[in-house]
Amino acid sequence: MFLSGKRALITGSTSGIGLAVARALAAEGAEVVLNGFGDAGEIAKLTEELSASHINADLMTQEGCEALMAEAGPVDILVNNAGMQHVAPVDEFPVDKWLAIISLNLAAAFHTVRLAVPQMKEKGWGRIINTASAHSKTASPFKSAYNASKHGIDGFTKTIALELAQTGVTANCISPGYVWTPLVENQIPDTMKARNMTREQVINDVLLAKTPTKKFVQPEEIGALAAFLCREEAGNVTGANWSIDGGWTAE
Ligand code: NAD
Repeated sequence: MFLSGKRALITGSTSGIGLAVARALAAEGAEVVLNGFGDAGEIAKLTEELSASHINADLMTQEGCEALMAEAGPVDILVNNAGMQHVAPVDEFPVDKWLAIISLNLAAAFHTVRLAVPQMKEKGWGRIINTASAHSKTASPFKSAYNASKHGIDGFTKTIALELAQTGVTANCISPGYVWTPLVENQIPDTMKARNMTREQVINDVLLAKTPTKKFVQPEEIGALAAFLCREEAGNVTGANWSIDGGWTAE
């Protein structure tokens, strides 16, 4: 188990992609710290399953990010994954939703990284993985805040990869296409409204229309890629933005 002795913090890991990444890293022996919201009983089951701890910090605020990092202590692997979506035309986009999305999807990663990096540099080893999106490379209408946050996380990741290049710390993005998680399921009603479509039309003509393989990405596939990025053999992989999108951004 190549991650024995490594401590991994995965934000937004009580559900979806973050949970799959947590499972993949725990399976390789990492000591996992979970974060995110959910039913207390379900979270207790997850901490037991993964022999993990859980920190219930709200990463929408600077204070929440600082509380998370203080409670987590030094980590070898930091996965910035917590994120949210809102779908609306730009001239109707609620200002509070815009600010929330930029705070959670982009600013939170700045806070966790700035607080984790000193200890990684001291150890001479670290792995920073940011869950971006196909929307870090391309855009779709009605997702102005999300697309801006994900293009932002791509630029942020490249910048820190360059700053940390000689320290043993790598920084990369993983950019999934559509993965069937609550985040995708919950955007279907607003997309139906914004595009005047049925649920089936949204799934087939919007979500999978973007995906040449015509298949949703599986969370476990993202977990496997994250685990690879934590390997010693991935020490020269830094500043990259890894697509796992069924060919979407190849078009
Ligand atoms: P999800 O809704 O299943 O999980 C989101 C996680 O973030 C949950 O654990 C939730 O509790 C946590 N979270 C939400 N608000 C939080 C807050 N304020 N503070 C701390 N934690 C919070 O979503 P998902 O689809 O697994 O998305 C995870 C990441 O993957 C996001 O960054 C998302 O943008 C990205 N992504 C998802 C898809 C997709 O198709 N599902 C595609 C590309 C990128």
